[in-house]
Amino acid sequence: MSDDTGEPEVELEARLKEQETFEPPESFVEQANVSDPDVYEEFEENWPDCWERAADLLSWDEEYDTVLEDGDAPFYEWFSGGELNASYNCLDRHVEEGAKNRAAIKWEGELGETRTYTYGDLLNEVEAFAAALRDLGVEEDDVVTLYMPMIPELPIAMLACARIGAPHSVVFAGFSADALATRMNSADSEYLVTCDGYYRRGDALNHKEKADKGLRGVENDVQTVVVDRLGDELTHFLGNDAHDYDELVAEHEGASVEPISRDAEDMLFLMYTSGTTGEPKGVKHTTGGYLAYTAWTSNAVLDVKPEDTYWCTADIGWITGHSYIVYGPLALGTTTMMYEGTPDYPEKDRLWELIEKNRVDTFYTAPTAIRSFMKWGTEYPERHDLSSLRLLGTVGEPINPRAWKWYYKHIGGEECPIVDTWWQTETGGMMITTLPAINEMKPGSAGPPLPGIDARVVDAAGEEISAGEAGYLTVDNPWPGMLRTLYQNDERFVEEYWTEYSDTDAVNRQLTSPHSSESREDADEWVYFPEDGATVDEDGYVTVLGRVDDVINVSGHRLGTMEIESAIVGVPGVAEAAVVGGDHEIKGEAVYTYVILEDDAEPSEDMRERIVAAVEDDIGPIARPEEVLFTPELPKTRSGKIMRRLLENIASGDELGDTSTLRNPEIVDEIARQVDSGA
Ligand code: ATP
Ligand code: MG
Repeated sequence: MSDDTGEPEVELEARLKEQETFEPPESFVEQANVSDPDVYEEFEENWPDCWERAADLLSWDEEYDTVLEDGDAPFYEWFSGGELNASYNCLDRHVEEGAKNRAAIKWEGELGETRTYTYGDLLNEVEAFAAALRDLGVEEDDVVTLYMPMIPELPIAMLACARIGAPHSVVFAGFSADALATRMNSADSEYLVTCDGYYRRGDALNHKEKADKGLRGVENDVQTVVVDRLGDELTHFLGNDAHDYDELVAEHEGASVEPISRDAEDMLFLMYTSGTTGEPKGVKHTTGGYLAYTAWTSNAVLDVKPEDTYWCTADIGWITGHSYIVYGPLALGTTTMMYEGTPDYPEKDRLWELIEKNRVDTFYTAPTAIRSFMKWGTEYPERHDLSSLRLLGTVGEPINPRAWKWYYKHIGGEECPIVDTWWQTETGGMMITTLPAINEMKPGSAGPPLPGIDARVVDAAGEEISAGEAGYLTVDNPWPGMLRTLYQNDERFVEEYWTEYSDTDAVNRQLTSPHSSESREDADEWVYFPEDGATVDEDGYVTVLGRVDDVINVSGHRLGTMEIESAIVGVPGVAEAAVVGGDHEIKGEAVYTYVILEDDAEPSEDMRERIVAAVEDDIGPIARPEEVLFTPELPKTRSGKIMRRLLENIASGDELGDTSTLRNPEIVDEIARQVDSGA
C-alpha cells in the first residue's frame, strides 16, 4: 500500500483533509452536456414548462397537450395527450439515425465471457422476443414478471415488454421463492421469464428450482419462459409449461413488431420496493414522465454521450439498474455495461480490470462498495490504468467524507467530479445532486436539489429550518419521474407519501372521496415526504442523514445514526460502521456500534478509545457509544443495505426474527456470540 509512504502522498492527504470543497475540473466542464449555471433559474422561472427540456430528449408519436395536469393531486399527470414507445426510444430511433453498429450493451460474464449487442442486434432480438411473448398470449397491459440475474436477456425482455405495451415487474434474482410468489400474486401476473441458473464466484446456482417453488404459490396459471444461462452445467429443466427462450427467439427470428404507441401516463413498469416493513409496495412508473426524467438526469448528471462507455454496477433488479443501466442510457443511445459477477472474483481488482479493458468513461456505484474497496486497499486499483474515467457517481446511502475522498483520489485520480445522487425507487430518478460541471462538490453532502426539484428540509411542523439544523426532507412540487401510485392501491399511496406534510383537509378529501371534484382545487397543498432526515447548509447543500426511523433517543436527545457512523468511519483504520440504539436501563436507549476494520488494522483497546473519542468530538459526549464491537461483516440486505433491525435486536438481547432476506445470514450468529461473550 502506498498511502503512507513518500512525501507527495503525505502532502496530498493533508491537502485533501483541509479542503472542504472541490471545484469541477476544467477539462470536464469544457465538454459537459450541461454547463450553464443559468439552468437553475431557467427551470424555476418556467416551471412546469421547463420539463419540456426533458421531454425533448425523446421521440414522441403524438405530441403532448399539457406538461403537467395537477387537477387531481397528488395523482399528477405529466405530458398528457402525448404518445410514445419506450423500446422505440431506446432502440429503433438510434438505428434509424445510423447507430446500428454501435454497441448498446456490453456484457461481462462472471466466468470471463463477454457478449456485445449492437443497437441493431438488440433491436432484432427484442423484436423476436416481443413476437414470442405475443404468441404466448401477452396483451397490452398484462404484467410480465422477470426473475433473472444480470444477463442480457433481462434488459431484452424488459424492452420486449415495453414494445408491446406490457408492463414488466422485475423481481431481483436474489429474492426468495416466496418473494416471487407474493409479487406475482399482487400484480396478478400470468407470465414469467426466468433462467435455469447463474454463477456466483464460479459456482453454478440453480435458479429454476427457486422459480418453480415460487410458482407453486402463485394463484394464476403461469406461462413460463426459461433462459439457458448454464448450458450443460445444470440440467436445463423446462417442466410442464415452460418454454425455451432460445427456441422462441429462433422461431421468431426476423419478426418485425411495431412498437405500440402508449399514452404518456400508461404504466411502463412496476417495481416492488423491498418491503423491509409490511407488504411490498408496487411502485408504478409511467412511459412518458419516467423515460423523460431518466433520460434528462442521465444527460445532465451522468453526462452520458452516445460515444461513451458507461457503467453502473447496480443490479437491474433494483430501480438504479432500471433507470441508469437500461432506460436512461439506452434512451440516449450510449453503450451501457452490464456485469454479472461480484467485485472480488476472481480477484479484488475485477472492476478496475473491466474499466481498463473497456475504457469506461463513467462509473456509478454505491458507498457500501466503495468502503469495501477501501478495506481491500489501494493496491488493486493501482494495478490498472483508470485514466479513461471522466466522471464518478454514488447512490444508495450517504457517503462519508473519507470514502468520498478515497474514491476521488484512488479511482478518479483527482480528475473526475463525483456526483452523490440522492433518490428513491419512488422518485424514479435522481433528485438531489450536484451538476458535475456547475457546482462545487462538498464531500458527504449530496448537493443542491436538481433544477426544477423543490426539495426542502423542514421541522416537524413543516416550517423550513435554519442552516445546520437537522430536519425532514420534503418535496413541494411534483416532477415527471415520480411514482404515480402504488399498484391498485391509491389510498396507500396517499397515506404513505402525502399525509405527513400536506394540507390535512386536502388529504382527508382525497381519502374520503377519491378523485372527486372537491379535491381538485388544492394542487398546491400537497407535499411529498420521502421519510428521510436531512440538514441543509447556507449554500443550500443537502446532507441526507438517513431514514427517519434511524434515530436513537438517548436520555431524551435525538441522535441520527448516520452522523455517528460518519464520525466513526473518519477514524483511520475503520472501514465501515453501523450504529443502532439498544435498550438501556437508565438512558432508555444507548448507542451501540458495530465496526469493521480495514484489512491491515487490528482490533485493540486503543482503536476502541479512538472511536469513542471521535464520536465525542464530532457529536458530543451524549452520543458516547455504550459498546464498540469489532466484526468482520455487517448483516446486509441483498441490495447492500445494513439490516439495522437485526443489530438493534442483538444490542437489546431480543429475538432475532426473520433473517431470510439477508445476503449473509451466518454473520448474525457470529455477532450475537460476540455480544454474549462480552467481547
Ligand atoms: P425499501 O424498499 O424498504 O423502501 P429503501 O427505501 O432503502 O428500501 P430505495 O428506494 O432503493 O429503497 O432507497 C432509497 C433510500 O436510500 C433513500 O430514501 C435514502 O434513505 C437512501 N439514499 C439513496 N441515495 C442516497 C444518497 N446519495 N445519500 C443518502 N441517502 C441515500
Ligand atoms: Mg423506500
